[in-house]
Amino acid sequence: SKRGRLDQFIARRLQVSKKAVRQLLIDNKVSVDGKYAKSPDLLIDEFSHIVCNDVVLQQYEKQYYMLNKPDGVVSATVDDKHPTAVSLLVGVELDMLHIAGRLDLHSTGLLLITNDAKWSAALMAPDNKVDKHYIVTLANPIDERYIDAFANGMYFEYEDITTLPATLTMLSSHQARVSLCEGKYHQIKRMFGRFRNPVVGLHRESIGKIVLDNTLLPGEFRLLTEAEIDCVI
Ligand code: URA
Repeated sequence: SKRGRLDQFIARRLQVSKKAVRQLLIDNKVSVDGKYAKSPDLLIDEFSHIVCNDVVLQQYEKQYYMLNKPDGVVSATVDDKHPTAVSLLVGVELDMLHIAGRLDLHSTGLLLITNDAKWSAALMAPDNKVDKHYIVTLANPIDERYIDAFANGMYFEYEDITTLPATLTMLSSHQARVSLCEGKYHQIKRMFGRFRNPVVGLHRESIGKIVLDNTLLPGEFRLLTEAEIDCVI
């Protein structure tokens, strides 16, 4: 997030001198996040709640949405060829929104969109090992061998990594639930690729404790609840 000095921000915003800002601070006319600010060099960011002479100068609301991503929509804010996930947030101020954990063009399901970069970084940090749950539909039948292969991890030569233990549960001959705590490039497709079994459907059900709301039709979205926001460390 962009950080800057309080006095600089107020001087620019109110078109007054830094000296005038100092006087405002001395007179207890400025508060930041509910507390009187004293220091001109206090660091603020885009989410700091700044009030001067009872006027709110800056108050970006933190925004968090879940979208049921439809097939054929790109996990991006701009794209030349396809509609973007962010463009589906009809009626939402799109400034600074970004996607926390992309899905491939043809993947569907839970997509989280926010303007809170600290929150999305915590959610996606490899060290935090947040589980992501997917329903995967395969072209060919699956069997028990897949369970061990996913649990043991697979070596990917290109990145020189072995995937972390993943859980595969068979739901039917052609469908499985897969849980991963990481997100390498096209990871699920590549893991099933080891069995020469193409993925024909990939649907994300949840990220950590945040579960896709089953009342959301493809393309529909809603705000996250306080509890959903707070479950991210
Ligand atoms: N793994 C994939 O291969 N694709 C996705 O969209 C998500 C996980």
